Amino acid sequence: MYLSEKFLSISPSPTLSIDAKFKQMKKDGLDVVGFGAGEPDFDTPKHIKDAAIKAILDGKTKYTPASGMPELKKAVCQKFMRDNSLYYEPNQIVVSNGAKHSLVNVFGAILNEGDEVIIPAPYWVSYPEIVKINSGVPVTVYASEDNDFKVTPEQIEEKITEKTRAIVLNSPSNPTGMVYTKEELEKIAEIALKHSLYIVSDEIYEHLIYEGKHFSIAQISDEVKDITIIVNGVSKTYAMTGWRIGYTASNPTIAKVMSNVQSHATSNPNTIAQIAAIEALNGPQEELGAMVAEFAKRRNYMADRINKIEGVSCIKPHGSFYIMMNIKNILGKKLNGKTIHSADEFAEMLLDDKLVAVVPGTGFEAPDYVRWSYATSMENIKEGLDRLEKFLSELE
Ligand code: PLP
Repeated sequence: MYLSEKFLSISPSPTLSIDAKFKQMKKDGLDVVGFGAGEPDFDTPKHIKDAAIKAILDGKTKYTPASGMPELKKAVCQKFMRDNSLYYEPNQIVVSNGAKHSLVNVFGAILNEGDEVIIPAPYWVSYPEIVKINSGVPVTVYASEDNDFKVTPEQIEEKITEKTRAIVLNSPSNPTGMVYTKEELEKIAEIALKHSLYIVSDEIYEHLIYEGKHFSIAQISDEVKDITIIVNGVSKTYAMTGWRIGYTASNPTIAKVMSNVQSHATSNPNTIAQIAAIEALNGPQEELGAMVAEFAKRRNYMADRINKIEGVSCIKPHGSFYIMMNIKNILGKKLNGKTIHSADEFAEMLLDDKLVAVVPGTGFEAPDYVRWSYATSMENIKEGLDRLEKFLSELE
């Protein structure tokens, strides 16, 4: 069959497929505990749902401008001022069908065939694939656990070639939960300026932070702001993953290019979801505070307990809702005579033997780790870690 070589090179999202397997097992009646989720286990706050219901009843069910409703762009501009002290005009904002779609637009706008994008690993699985969808070449920089899973400016600089166009930043990070400090970001920004690179700053977890403070690299200076494209959205902050609203803030030229493409590719994001997003951004924020407090409790419990279990360890994450568990000491051990060679096999055996679903780090280019999401109840977390303990105690 004649197919696009570019599209054939794209692999399916491993996090989504693990989650799908977990959901199927659950449907089949198995007592499975899932830690693969990339979404808050909280419901979308009622006032946001009510805004959407009202929008439908009021007949707000038609097309909007392709890059988003003026009211939503205004709410996004106000959000940037309120949360990040960043001034943007509405013509710098493009609203898309989720932050993932925003990233597709971003790389589409800034890359030509063969352009390179530096992506710090462990990374969110979609970055390299989205770069490839847009004819770019992902270039991995490996951040070690010893350096809190953060890349150093020197590591970035080593990878820069004449084809490098952009650096991806994701702070707080999926999958590591790490948060870059202002000082660290200043050094990275300096390199980006020196080599005329764009900075694609994915700040989707900015409010899910338990230690330190979120700082956007665009806050450093007007010069840095001009080369930075911020990607954000309502999915994680407001438990709105299914509503599909993300947005970017960039210089107006990039925004215009993305908006032109979007006007042909998807037209506007769902009108009702846009109205819900306005309410999310402008409405009461109490439920966000309660969600963050609950995530903080779970993070403490999970990290402390993992570090008490023999053979595995983790660094306590500062943000997002993931923990990377180091399983280096487990590789090579056996369960019922079968050797665990890799994180993939670890995750598979833990799921088959103890019905616990975690995500192997292989997809994040972190082969000695598995990722646990704590976007699940404390009861599940306790049960999952009990089962992990039992699983590890049975290894030879
Ligand atoms: N960026 C990161 C780092 C993520 O973890 C995710 C979702 O898992 C996204 C972007 C995509 O979010 P959205 O649901 O808005 O497409």
